[in-house]
Amino acid sequence: MPNRVRKQNSSATENNVLSRPRPKADSKLNILRGRHLSEYPWLVHGFSTRSNGFSRAYGGNALNLGFTKEDSKAAVERNRAVFLAELESASDHGRTARSSASTKSPGLSPLITLRQIHSDIIHFVDSPPESQLAGDGLITATPGLLLGIQAADCLPIMLVDAKQRAIGVFHAGWRGTLKRIVEKGVGEMHRRFRSRPRDLKAAIGPAVHGCCYEVGREVREKFESQFSYAAKLFREVEDRDPVRDKYPMLFLTARPPGHGVLPKKIFLDLVEANRQQLLSVGVLAKNIEASPLCTQCRPDLLFSYRAEKGKTGRMMGVVGIRA
Ligand SMILES: [Zn+2]
Repeated sequence: MPNRVRKQNSSATENNVLSRPRPKADSKLNILRGRHLSEYPWLVHGFSTRSNGFSRAYGGNALNLGFTKEDSKAAVERNRAVFLAELESASDHGRTARSSASTKSPGLSPLITLRQIHSDIIHFVDSPPESQLAGDGLITATPGLLLGIQAADCLPIMLVDAKQRAIGVFHAGWRGTLKRIVEKGVGEMHRRFRSRPRDLKAAIGPAVHGCCYEVGREVREKFESQFSYAAKLFREVEDRDPVRDKYPMLFLTARPPGHGVLPKKIFLDLVEANRQQLLSVGVLAKNIEASPLCTQCRPDLLFSYRAEKGKTGRMMGVVGIRA
């Protein structure tokens, strides 16, 4: 089974921009960008990766963008400043020399983040809030604001409506996915900006994938009670035990018939779950792009809460409309 997953990933990798972090010649940062979203010169966007920052708390020089308890505030602030500067100067492919000369003076746009609480709460913003908002989604049509979602396994998801020039960013772990955060995000963008689902482009950043995301049976049951397509989101594999593998007869003879079944491990494909939600509300399949990179498979490139047992930094997905 892992072979199938890996094979899919590798073929997707070849033509998926979100898998190829390529630093500019004058930058050390590796930023992942969506192919669709890169077409819009008025849009700033990117998903951070972990290398080449100022944090020392997570090995090497890490680009931790979250105020975690292990890291120093100064390091995170420096990381955020270089990441945002790089995003604002480099998101554009068409606007090169002219814009880099003319965009120096305005300085960085304000970054709006959330106290993320695994909810389905989505905030509309048209100016920087006075205090930090709690929730898991941000939408705006106001130029000059950067919207950021932090993640280290959960999905950061961007939605962009080029027709109405409106954007959104969402945080979806299993709880937020169960609460249909991204589905609701599409609905909120329609309500606020008249965005039509078929005009939306979606970019799903690096996150823990179905190859690694083991969940309990209760999570499967919750999804089954909510989604008609739940069965295709889960994969069950026998929990291989080296002793059992080596001495199968021992276990076959020691148990009465019907009791020799090995325990199952359950894996959830959260990327597919969110893709299904987007499709179910009318976002076109060709407009949904997902990074094939799994956080837990790639600790060299990405932060993973699970792989690093909670002691890890945060990456950020940031989207904004140029001022
Ligand atoms: Zn993985």
